[in-house]
Amino acid sequence: MDEKPRLIAIDPADCRCTECIIGEYVPLREATDEQIALMLRGELRDHTSTPLRVSAQWGLYGSKLDEQHLVSVRVIAELWDGTDLTWDITHHLDVVPGQVVGPPRD
Ligand SMILES: [Zn+2]
Repeated sequence: MDEKPRLIAIDPADCRCTECIIGEYVPLREATDEQIALMLRGELRDHTSTPLRVSAQWGLYGSKLDEQHLVSVRVIAELWDGTDLTWDITHHLDVVPGQVVGPPRD
């Protein structure tokens, strides 16, 4: 048996195309938190045709904006049938670009 091919794209939620079956693409519904984070960074192609929302939650420590810490980041896909899919990419932020404040250090 050949090794599984490298994942290169995330396809629409319930896609069953040849690439999804052999593992070059993954249907959005089966995508992992890490794969969603990689797509947001541009390392996986976005074939989802689905609007995504990113929701970040920060906690304040000491009630100052400069003491805020990122608590969680969720990605929500709004599917054509009105249902949502949600991923928690909080622990995959090292693969998301931009200004992100890290979790509190103990
Ligand atoms: Zn597919």
